[in-house]
Formats: sequence, structure tokens, C-alpha cells
Amino acid sequence: MPAVEASAISVRIGASTLLHDVSLSLEAGTTVAVVGPNGAGKSTLLRTLAGELKPSSGTVRLKGRRISSYSAGALALHRAVLSQSISVAFPFTVADIVRMGAGERAGPAVAALVEAALAEVDLEGFRDRIIMTLSGGEQQRAQFARILVQVACGEAAQGPGVLLLDEPTASLDLRHQLDVLEIARRCAARGVTVVAILHDLNLAALFAERVIVLDRGHIAGDGPPSETITDAILEDVFGVAGAVGRAAAGLPTVLPHAARPAGRDKSSPAGGAHH
Ligand code: ADP
Ligand code: MG
Repeated sequence: MPAVEASAISVRIGASTLLHDVSLSLEAGTTVAVVGPNGAGKSTLLRTLAGELKPSSGTVRLKGRRISSYSAGALALHRAVLSQSISVAFPFTVADIVRMGAGERAGPAVAALVEAALAEVDLEGFRDRIIMTLSGGEQQRAQFARILVQVACGEAAQGPGVLLLDEPTASLDLRHQLDVLEIARRCAARGVTVVAILHDLNLAALFAERVIVLDRGHIAGDGPPSETITDAILEDVFGVAGAVGRAAAGLPTVLPHAARPAGRDKSSPAGGAHH
């Protein structure tokens, strides 16, 4: 049984169609990168897979059950979502934020999970700092630690679940980008299904067994990095002339050298603006 299965999901808001008839099936323990231009519908897809956004048509199943049939509490144990931007309005400490991953749970086991997650994201020394005094990248790592605690609690209760990450590396320095993706891969090795929206195609190739390319609400490519990160995709989907080379392990490496000349941009069939 797939961990996540989307059947012909469409998301329409007003006159715009954000996702057109998207179907995909993710086996448990897979690492998946979702890539695509700004406005392609990546966050919309992730939020729909997470059960946060109800599709206008089509269904999402999580571990074989319709996602809409889970209670909020059960859903939190089967899947964790790291949103694209999270602003915290109250003066919580880093440890408070990370502990929120455990929900109502408390006690020594939770404390140990919090400590382990802080260590994994390299924030042990930040435990008592007020979250908004941290840099953007440090805050992002704290939020990632919170999600790791949630995943661990879910795993203990229900077995490996699904981890959905919306641009988890966006504000991070190179070393912490690699750390976060390495931690996500270790989750996958334990059976957690990991879906990460990434902009850096080189990181996507390094991280994921499977890359899904979204373009204006459609799947424009789906397969291993060697088949999805190609000169044609760079040109057609990203509008970039580039040269996809091959690294030692046979992984594609992308070195963009020019944007597609102005005037050749494709207009969005949905009429939605790209950002
Ligand atoms: P991505 O994450 O790939 O950058 P999103 O999934 O956030 O893109 O958004 C896809 C498209 O849908 C964008 O063009 C965005 O402006 C549009 N969009 C997102 N939310 C809404 C909304 N509530 N109403 C209308 N359009 C929206
Ligand atoms: Mg997005």
C-alpha cells in the first residue's frame, strides 16, 4: 500500500486552477523532491497531500485511508508538515517551540526527543533563546527540530509516517542545507516517506530518489534525478539555458548560464501570475 496516493487532484480557487488532475503514488520510505518555478503549485500540492487543503476534485489517501477521514490528532501522528514560512508572535524559547512537536505529550521521553532534535539541527546552545531573536536560518532549523519531534512521536505511536517539507533549506547555509537533507534521508531509511520542495536542483539530485517537476499545476516530469533534471526540463520548465553535467556518482549537476531570452516566456494557462 502506498504511503500517499493522490488521484486526479485539482485545486481551483476562483477562476484559477492551481493544480490540474495531478496523480501520484509514493511508496513508504521514499525520498521525493518537488521542484518547479515560483507559482507552479508546489506548496499547493504539498498542502493538499498534507490534508490542509481540500482539493476541488480528486482524492488523497494516506496509508490507504482518505485523508479527510482522519481526526486532527490522528493526522498529526501520521504526517508532519513544515510550512514555507512560520512567524512566531509570542516570546517562546527555542525549546518551547521544539517541544510543541510533541503536542500534549510530556515527560522524560519527550524531553529526550527535544534534546536529540536540538542536537540534530545543531541548536543545542540555543535552547533558552527567544525564537524571534534567532537568525532566519536558525529559526528555520528550530522549526525543523519541532517537526522531527513530531515525526518521532508519530513513529512511536503509529510507525513511520510522512514528512512534508516546504523549502526546508531556503534560508540555510550550505552546511546546514546538507545537514537537514541528511537528517531527512535518515528518516526515510527508517521508513518515513519524505517529500521536500527544493529550489536547488543540485541538492534535489543529491537528496531524492525521485524528482517531481511541477509546471503551472501540471506534472512535467516524474522519475529519478537522471531522468528529470535534464537540459530539456531546464529550458522548457525553468526557462533557463544551462548545461546539465554528470557528477562522479552519475547524478546530474546543473550549471545555469543564461535565462531564456525575454519574450519567450510562456503565459500561464490558469491566468495566474508567476512570482
Ligand atoms: P509555489 O509553491 O510553486 O511557488 P503555490 O502553490 O504557492 O506555488 O501557488 C501556485 C499559484 O497559485 C500561484 O500563482 C499563486 O499565486 C496562486 N495562489 C495560491 N494561493 C492562492 C489563492 N488563495 N487564491 C488565488 N491564487 C492563489
Ligand atoms: Mg511555495
